[in-house]
Formats: sequence, C-alpha cells, structure tokens
Amino acid sequence: MEHLQGVFFERTAELIAAGHRLYQRGWLPATSGNLSARLDHRRFAITVSGTHKGTLTDQDIMAVNEKGHALEPGMRPSAETLLHVALYLADPEVGAVLHVHSPSATVLSLATPGERVRLSGFELIKAFPGHTSHDEVLEVPIFDNDQHIPRLVEAVNARAGGTPAVPGYLIRGHGLYAWGPDVARTMHYLEAFDFLFNCQLQLGASQP
Ligand SMILES: [Zn+2]
Repeated sequence: MEHLQGVFFERTAELIAAGHRLYQRGWLPATSGNLSARLDHRRFAITVSGTHKGTLTDQDIMAVNEKGHALEPGMRPSAETLLHVALYLADPEVGAVLHVHSPSATVLSLATPGERVRLSGFELIKAFPGHTSHDEVLEVPIFDNDQHIPRLVEAVNARAGGTPAVPGYLIRGHGLYAWGPDVARTMHYLEAFDFLFNCQLQLGASQP
C-alpha cells in the first residue's frame, strides 16, 4: 500500500469534493450512496460505510482489494462495495464509480416497468460516449433492488457482462450507479443522467 500513498491521497481528495457536491444537489441524503476510485488494477479507494457525504473527510475514505476487503484493519467498507469492485474488474478502463440515491433515478426506475429505460430525442444523449445524435436511443438497464448484494452483483454481471454499453445502470426504487475513466468524467455522466431522467419524468407526467 505504501507506494500507493500518493495516488490514494489524490483520489481521496477527488472523492471528498465529489461527495460534497453530490450531497449539495440532494443526491446522497442521510449517509446514502457510496463513491470510489481506482488505485491500481486490484485496489480501490471507497467511502467508509455509513459516512455522511456532505461532511466527508479523509478519515471517511478507505482502501479495499479486489474482493472488497479492507486493506487496513478496523475499517468497514459499505455492503455495496462489491458492486463497485465488479465494475472495476469487468473493465480496466473504469477509473471511478459513483453511486447516488437521486430522486430522479429513484422515481424513474420505479415508474418504468421492465428491464430498461429508453431515452431518445434529447440533445444531451450526446454527453455519452459513442452517441452522436439526439435521434439515438440511450438504453439504461434497470435491475430489481435486492438487499443481498452478491446476488445483485450476479444479476448485473449476467445481463451486461459487468458493464453495459451506457456508463450507468439503475436499481429500482434505489438509485443510480455511474462510472467513467475518472471522477470528473463520472460526475459529468451523473449530471447528464439526472437531466435526462428528469426530462423523461416530466414527459411521462404530461402524457394524457
Ligand atoms: Zn445504494
């Protein structure tokens, strides 16, 4: 871990800043959500279980291995750490995973039956890699919520091979997982998802 110390401090600072911003937006209420970033090919920095993301300090970020186990004794990672680790192991390009309990993700995933949200017609679809036109369809997978996290990991891996084409998936009535090459890019994706989910909800509400 010693040679990772510099990387750990950098990623920790980014995760703390992200936590504060995401909390201010109302996407991480009441200690919910968890935020992580890659340290190397099998070690990751992640928020400690039960931390309030509006007041994160460097004491609230810990390092885990590829099994989701703490590298330092006495630290307890979030139960959802395994979902983060699964994304890192599925794709070496994933550098950060941010999980939020935003109202738009929570409500849209409950209001949408089936296994995916289909978004089309919105200019902001172009915020996602590989999408060059508002005409394209952005399909965001939805997984049913499950308090048994290893089973949820299995469901995600089975359906999408770990990482769907879109850098995010919804858990019904629960929230959104988004990932990207680094924390900054993943923050952009979270903002784009939130904008699109809100637009979709407003369209749904205006249907006769
Ligand atoms: Zn959660």
